[in-house]
Amino acid sequence: MLLTHRWSSLCFYFCLSSDNPSAFFSFFPLFEVFRSLSEMTDEKSRVQVSIRIRPLLKIDKNDKPIVHPLDETSLSLSDDKKAPKSYQFDHVLCGDQQSVYETIGRPMLEEAYKGFNVCLFAYGQTGSGKTYSLLGDISDEEKQGVAPRFVQELFDEAQRRVDEDTDLTIKVSLSMIEVYMEKVRDLLAPRQRGQEPEALEIHEDSNRRVYVKDASVHQVLGSERTMQLLRKGNANRQTAETKMNETSSRSHAIVQIAVTQEFATLEKKDLECTISLVDLAGSERQTKTESSGQHFEEAKKINHSLLMLGRALNSFSERKGNADSFISLRESKLTRLLSESFGGNSKTWMLATVSPTAYNAYETISTLDYASNAKAITNKARINKSVRDLEYKDLVRLRAHLETCLARENTLVVDNTQRCEVLSKELDQLLGELEVCRSDFTIENELENALVEREMLLMELRTALENSVVGNEDEPLICFSGMIKVAVGSVPMDTIVPITAVVPVFDFVGPPPLLRCTIRVTEPVADCLAVVVEVLELFHLPDFCSGGARVSLWFEGQESSRVYSHFVAPNAGNPQFSLSQSFLFDSAGEKVRNFLSKETLMVCVEGALGIV
Ligand code: ADP
Ligand code: MG
Repeated sequence: MLLTHRWSSLCFYFCLSSDNPSAFFSFFPLFEVFRSLSEMTDEKSRVQVSIRIRPLLKIDKNDKPIVHPLDETSLSLSDDKKAPKSYQFDHVLCGDQQSVYETIGRPMLEEAYKGFNVCLFAYGQTGSGKTYSLLGDISDEEKQGVAPRFVQELFDEAQRRVDEDTDLTIKVSLSMIEVYMEKVRDLLAPRQRGQEPEALEIHEDSNRRVYVKDASVHQVLGSERTMQLLRKGNANRQTAETKMNETSSRSHAIVQIAVTQEFATLEKKDLECTISLVDLAGSERQTKTESSGQHFEEAKKINHSLLMLGRALNSFSERKGNADSFISLRESKLTRLLSESFGGNSKTWMLATVSPTAYNAYETISTLDYASNAKAITNKARINKSVRDLEYKDLVRLRAHLETCLARENTLVVDNTQRCEVLSKELDQLLGELEVCRSDFTIENELENALVEREMLLMELRTALENSVVGNEDEPLICFSGMIKVAVGSVPMDTIVPITAVVPVFDFVGPPPLLRCTIRVTEPVADCLAVVVEVLELFHLPDFCSGGARVSLWFEGQESSRVYSHFVAPNAGNPQFSLSQSFLFDSAGEKVRNFLSKETLMVCVEGALGIV
């Protein structure tokens, strides 16, 4: 960049805009910004070199033409002294102003709108048509040079784009400086008559981009205002009458137009570019202009800066590498200002103008050689994202992102509060359940302890029992018992009645034990009667009753009168008893039958384990 435009300056400000502020706040992730930044890649582009052959003019005084176009890209130079030489360029132009614009200006405009910096510089001998080609007659449509045509189409295209895209705002600004006698001057700043215009300084910003400090920048809305400024700047150029050109330009003039395409929507990338149009001072030999004094000094400086520019061209040409480029570019103000256009971030066009006549042969050859060198320069142009706007958009995106985060956090806080309440209730419930569980656990523990205690008790008892069994062989262990009830009321008097009764035994599989006994009721003597019971034998004593069996007798309700037999050996399942017992009753005058009907004889049979 040659100049850095100060957007915050007090200059008046116009923009082409279609407002859609709401679009600014649509969310666009931050990484998109950085991704788009990383997408900016350099594009190699060779400097496009065109030669324009000026037509014969009055000034040529019927001098012989020596430069002849061969076709659209080549020409030949037939100097009397040397053999004809042909040159090849990107374009050889002999046509009118419109054709020059279409060949150079329009492609530049297209690249500028893509976001590339573009630069056109006109090089050539004084009077060969540099200023005519670049500016021409701004007021005459036919004679307008590249710059006014460019400006016109720039705004036409801006309007078309803005109409097409409601999110788009295009801003255009203009500045114009000249380098005269190695001094940089603002061509658009107000000038006081008789006073030397202020010399400006060339600075570098933090990105090492060169700019002219305090150069005025004019924001422009339309082509008319831009033309006005172009005219004003051109009029302010240092001119002096020389033999070569009545209003010969003695300075290098640089017109710079900055275009920014800003999109209200964050999804579209903002673009900015700088268009530099450079009208160099004449490249002729000093002797030819017959200049002396001030003019001689001017010529020296001009030649020096053009020489340096030539060296810079050489240093940037692919053939020679760029080892000494740094020194060359800093050698003169001009090369410093044009540093971006050669080998830097710019797509560059060179228009070399030549006079066709033999009188100018030396300068023409020099110009053609100079231009041939420039063909080899390759720049690394890249699409310029608007840095200023990127920062702003970063902030907008960051804000949108943070707002979204905040909203999400707020929702989370509400959600979490509600969840906290629910969880706290659940926690209370769980604590209650835990308490119940804990007491259940205590009960279970207690039960288990009780169970253990019981088991221990049981074991103690079993041990005691075993001990007792082992220690007392006369006391057998009862393993079954069954009870028979006999109602004695139906027994006839003084008759021995045999009874065979089943002894009920629980859970016993096999033939049930049977007890055989007799019963006799005696006649009462002095109100006293006797019931005589004789137990005889037992059948089907279970096998496990290895300790034999015993029988006990008593009348219901008179437990104290119970009598036991001895344990009788099993006798292969039929132990024989010899138990005979008389039970005496006082009938007390009652009828014997009535009396006996109330009495029930209880007979208990018990089987024993093991020991007899
Ligand atoms: P330079 O800027 O190179 O010193 P100018 O652009 O001032 O030269 O041109 C010198 C003169 O020649 C001017 O009068 C200009 O009108 C005329 N001239 C230059 N080129 C052409 C051209 N292609 N057609 C017609 N006239 C031209
Ligand atoms: Mg000129």
